[in-house]
Amino acid sequence: SKAIVTDAQPRIIPDFSNYTGAWVFAEQRRGQLQRVSVELLGKAQELAKVLNHKVSAVLIGHEVSDLAKTLIQFGADTVYLVEHETLKEYRTEAYAHVFKELVTEHKPNILLMGATHIGRDLAPRVSRCVGSGLTADCTELSIHPEEGILLQTRPAFGGNVMATIANRFSRPQMATVRPGVMEVIPTPEKEGSVITHVTQLTEEQIGTRILEIVKEPKTHGNLTEAKIIVAGGRGVNDAAGFELLGSLAAALGAELAGTRVAFEEGWIPASRQVGQTGVTVRPDLYIACGISGAIQHRAGMMDSKFIVAINKDPYAPIFKVADWGIVGDLFDVVPELTKQLQAA
Ligand code: FAD
Repeated sequence: SKAIVTDAQPRIIPDFSNYTGAWVFAEQRRGQLQRVSVELLGKAQELAKVLNHKVSAVLIGHEVSDLAKTLIQFGADTVYLVEHETLKEYRTEAYAHVFKELVTEHKPNILLMGATHIGRDLAPRVSRCVGSGLTADCTELSIHPEEGILLQTRPAFGGNVMATIANRFSRPQMATVRPGVMEVIPTPEKEGSVITHVTQLTEEQIGTRILEIVKEPKTHGNLTEAKIIVAGGRGVNDAAGFELLGSLAAALGAELAGTRVAFEEGWIPASRQVGQTGVTVRPDLYIACGISGAIQHRAGMMDSKFIVAINKDPYAPIFKVADWGIVGDLFDVVPELTKQLQAA
């Protein structure tokens, strides 16, 4: 053990050498694996390699065992499978209870979840149940070269600084990670094992009953999983301008997004804002229309595979990250592009 002296009380770092493995919560909804879980398996492989640990996925639900194969093909050495009727629909208490059982039994060193609606709800409850800390909404994870602890980086103070947080005093080291940030690393040849865990949970132990599930009408697809994104900024001028972008998006089968300005002006919903305080995306093609390319916007889109920028200012910073730059008025360029695509 090592003593850490802070300006408060000196604290002794406990011995965590019996905690091992990088775990990922394999989030599924109605049997559909969420992409972020696969992304996290990519990151977990990287972290586990440094620590000489194994990667595990925790798959909870009812009749979801088919997904175990996919998890192995994306990096899991072991899949902890927990199936029960009571776990069919996500409920915080039930899932947290299962995690408590698993963590107590197997003692993982690292536990990662997607910063999705479910992950953001579940992770704090699990961290409370297992008595560990949690860093929410991380955008980068790495291992400290000397100490071997998890360095968890996330935007802080409204995105003005990037804070790197390390947990020296409890295990597992828990983080939620934004979707779209980590890279998927397929492992098609991998052979992993599935360990079935029988939960002691009973329906009576759960205080919540699901009476009805009302699905929100889907007006658009998932931005973080989009292959093509057409995004607009202040240069688009108004909602009518966004309709022009909508036609281009329809011609390309793309999703529509925008800058913080576009959100603040009410041209796009908050969920469509790309950037440091919005969503991080990495599509195959990102078309930025009337976007200056402020650092806070670039932070959310610069990992896109191919970037096309349309801006009338040749010195706009967006051109620094663009693969193709079109210097021109978007009100000329976008309709022409749409026309050509529709005719093709
Ligand atoms: P502007 O910077 O005003 O750029 C408009 C561009 O449109 C200009 O380059 C102009 O040349 C071009 N243009 C105008 N008319 C036309 C035309 N007819 N044809 C072609 N081009 C035209 N921003 C985000 O986007 N996402 C975030 O998550 C985010 N988080 C932030 C967090 C913090 C803490 C702070 C301080 C800021 C954040 N911002 C964020 C805001 C960011 O700093 C910028 O203000 C914002 O991205 C600018 O948006 P914009 O490019 O739409 O507007």
